[in-house]
Parts: sequence; C-alpha cells; structure tokens
Amino acid sequence: MPRTVERLPLMSMTPGTARSLTVLRYGRAGARPKVYLQAAIHSNEFPGAMALHHLIPMLDKAQKAGRIKGEIVVVPHANPIGLSHVLMANHLGRYDFFGRDNFNRNYHDLADPVAEKIGKKLTGDAGRNVSMIRKAGLEALDEMIPSNEIQELRLYLMKRSIDSDVVIDLHCDSQASMHHFISQRDWPAIADLSAQIGATAIMYNAPYPYTMTFSGCNGSWWSKLADRFPDKPIPQACQSSTIEYRGQSDVNDALGAADATALYKFLQRRKVISGDPGRLPRALCTATPMEGMDVGYAPCEGVLVYRKREGTKVRKGETICEVFDPTSANPLKARTPIKSSTDGMLFSRRPDGRLAWPGMVCFRIAGPKALPHRKGRSGLDD
Ligand SMILES: [Zn+2]
Repeated sequence: MPRTVERLPLMSMTPGTARSLTVLRYGRAGARPKVYLQAAIHSNEFPGAMALHHLIPMLDKAQKAGRIKGEIVVVPHANPIGLSHVLMANHLGRYDFFGRDNFNRNYHDLADPVAEKIGKKLTGDAGRNVSMIRKAGLEALDEMIPSNEIQELRLYLMKRSIDSDVVIDLHCDSQASMHHFISQRDWPAIADLSAQIGATAIMYNAPYPYTMTFSGCNGSWWSKLADRFPDKPIPQACQSSTIEYRGQSDVNDALGAADATALYKFLQRRKVISGDPGRLPRALCTATPMEGMDVGYAPCEGVLVYRKREGTKVRKGETICEVFDPTSANPLKARTPIKSSTDGMLFSRRPDGRLAWPGMVCFRIAGPKALPHRKGRSGLDD
C-alpha cells in the first residue's frame, strides 16, 4: 500500500495567484493509533520542517516494509500563506498580512457545538463516547464554510487532525533550547514524547489554554467535554502538544536527522510503527505550570545584549540581559538590566543585538511555582 499525497487548493485572495497545502498519509485510514504531525504553522519556523523533511523518507521506507500499524498524517509545511510573506527581503511569518491574525490563534473550539450535538446521547461506555465525539467534531467542521484563505487553511488542518490520538505541532522560538508545551491533562501520559525529544523545559496549561492555538484546540475540547459531563466517561482521547524545536536558525541536517529519529522512535513506542525504539532517554526535566513561566519584558527602548545563554539554569534576581541605549552620550548610565523573577530554566531568548521596545518579550524561564504576576496568563504572549 503506497502513501497518499493530497494537494489541497486554497482559495485565491488576489487575481492570478494560487497556493496549495500538501498532506501526506501513511497506514490505513481509520487505523489506530492515529498521529498527526505538522510543522511551521507560523511559516518562518523551519527547524520542525527540517525534522519532517528527514522523517518523511523514514516513513516511506516503513510504509513499503508494512511496518506502519496505525495511521500517520504529516503536513510538512502547514502554512503556504506565510511562505509568501516576504517584505523588503525579510521573511516575516507569524502574522497574516491580510487580517493581522497570529497564524497560530483562532482555531475552532469544538466543545460547545459538539456538546450540543451529542450531550444527550452520551453513554456509560468510554469507547463509544470517543467515537461519537470524534464523529460529531468532524461534522461540526464540515458544517463550517470558510470565507477566506486563512479560514480555509485552518479548516483543512483541523479536519485532518481532530480525530487523532496524538497531535504534534512543530514550532520553534527565536533563540531557544528544546521545549514542550502540553496540557496538564496529558501529564505524565505524554512524558515519553518530552523525554524522547530531549525537552529542557515542559510547561503545562491548566485547565485549558486561553488562546485558541492549534494544539490547544485539538486537545482541550476533550477536557472541556469531560468537565461538562462529569457523570459520563470521556477520556482525554487526544494528547495534543506543541514542540518548540530550538531557535529559528537551528536548521541543519544533523539536527533534522536526530529530531526525525526521535519522532520515529516515539511512533514506535506508541505502536504506530512496529519495531523496537530502544530505551527511553532519561528525562532532562519535569513539567512545570505555565503560570510559573517568567516572561522578561523590555522596560524601555534600546538594544539587547545578553548575559545568559538559552538552555541554562538561572536564579531569581540574576540579570538575564540588558537594554542599552546606543544614542546615549553617557554609556555607563545607558544600560537597564532585566532580571529573572524565578529560579528555573532559561529556555528562550532573543539574539544579541536585537532592537528592543517597551513591552517586548526578551526571555522566558520555566519556573516550578506559579508567579503572582503571571496569574491568569496561562498562554503564550504574542
Ligand atoms: Zn510558532
């Protein structure tokens, strides 16, 4: 049985232009477990696309050898719209030029429409409920009519992911060590993925992410339905998470091949592909709450210069970076430090020499305890 390749046309937004989305499918449709992987929804984030670029030939080989037991859907680059967002020789990504939407927001929360459809039909059988909920979710998506290209893209992606057992959304940060955003409901069930990829920080949303991210929408509807119908068995039937594959410039064959191998081993461990994945690597960290994530904001305008590298442990009160004013006549007085508010893992920062402005996110630190100033801010800042 060969793999299948879909090329889904996206509606044209300007005369004379056309784009399409490429989707690969392995295994038999409907086989379980079903795993969905997509890269670069923010478009200019290529480390994950590089991992899938290396994974696809491995999956081709497994398919030919009859080793794929479940179903695997791969979207090697999930955002052809953003691929065209080049301005003055810079590829921008992240935000849509048309409506200024963050490309990883505004996915469909299916909890309400599905609750309306099947609330009265739920049974005492968890397996039957899962099938019914998945079917109702797909129906709800089928009923939506996109009115523009980005809405069509979101629907194409969700229709292919929503009935999965595992959804993996591959992103990257500005300059970062490997980190993993998960739901608390999936911990520790998803710990094998975190350990296999070598996550240096794992952060969980609880109970749900407040931003409608792709991975959030694929996972949180299960938790919301379970909370809404507590007397019916509704398991967390989709482990949906976001992996940040280091920083934007971490794109090379060595990393891509190693990341693809880790994903392949995860698929083996979950019995989607047959074969021995070997021993699970020792976890580099445990999961910490999103509200414990310290976000360092620039207090003023200037240029960033860092004291700490990504992937290092830091202490509360340590200076992570400074903002200096390059126009100042008194350089010794023209520096403003930005300090850590927690002990933890500095997993994300900007490159040195980046222009900063008030409120810009300069770094993120995964800390073990909820921080008062982060309360209610369970998601990611733009
Ligand atoms: Zn991203």
